[in-house]
Amino acid sequence: MKIYLNGKYVPQNEAKISVFDHGVLYGDGVFEGIRLYNGKIFRLDRHLDRLFASAKAIMLDVPMTKAELIEACCETCRMNNLRDGYIRLVVTRGVGNLGLDPFKCRRPSVFIVADEIELYPGKVYRNGIELITASTQRVHPAAISPAIKSLNYLNNILAKIEAIHAGTIEAIMLNSAGYVAECTGDNLFIVRGGRLETPPVSDGALVGITRTVLFELAGKLKLTVGEPHLTRYDLMTADECFLTGTAAEIVPVAKIDSRPVGAGEPGPVTLKLMAEFHKLTRNEGTPILPGGRQVAAK
Ligand code: PMP
Repeated sequence: MKIYLNGKYVPQNEAKISVFDHGVLYGDGVFEGIRLYNGKIFRLDRHLDRLFASAKAIMLDVPMTKAELIEACCETCRMNNLRDGYIRLVVTRGVGNLGLDPFKCRRPSVFIVADEIELYPGKVYRNGIELITASTQRVHPAAISPAIKSLNYLNNILAKIEAIHAGTIEAIMLNSAGYVAECTGDNLFIVRGGRLETPPVSDGALVGITRTVLFELAGKLKLTVGEPHLTRYDLMTADECFLTGTAAEIVPVAKIDSRPVGAGEPGPVTLKLMAEFHKLTRNEGTPILPGGRQVAAK
């Protein structure tokens, strides 16, 4: 496997970051998780806009232009002969000393890993996922904005540990007011009365790229979308529930805290949205080969 690291494409065993990099020492950095479908990178532009916004929010100067990042993402996919996969683009604060001071770090490090995607098990998409509500609260938006996609995932990891201990793989996180924020690595939607609802970003949700795609698909399917505060009551009484994320795509939710959601199986609106989403991801995106040439299927 070839990894992009600070301007070079290096073999995996040479792709190394200093122990003095503040990304390692403090989780000081930002990242994106991006999908490649059918030789095309889905919503690359949106991911890069979010990366630059996250970087700006933490006063990190990305040492590359958007055009250079697009080329580096495409080239990493080409080098690894990928047609479908997952791209992890990371910008860390770079090498500094043992103190916190980010301004002592001379140059941010940029690396890009493109690999085959490890999906949730297929049965999760066929039968729906089971969730728990984590007792770990979502970090307060006034402490760290949930809009910043930073390398600091400990809050989410603590909730993920709860999910795994409870025998499932994903957990719902509530904010300090008790409202639903999101899951540890996915946004959450409910369907009720033919309407889609998802927590507002101000309740602690990431501005998910997939979340935004869902807003577009809802428009296409003539469904209204709202962003009200959501409580556990709303989830318990919803007709349907599903999660969205770049890696996860759209995951139907069957049970929350051992209670069936709706009929306890993927609902009709969720299934329709999943079908529309797959259609979109197959067709849209930035081609990694110029002139729309196709990458050979493996
Ligand atoms: N929330 C969190 C905490 C995430 O890490 C992610 C991405 N894995 C999402 C939501 C979904 O965002 P996107 O659709 O942009 O992948």
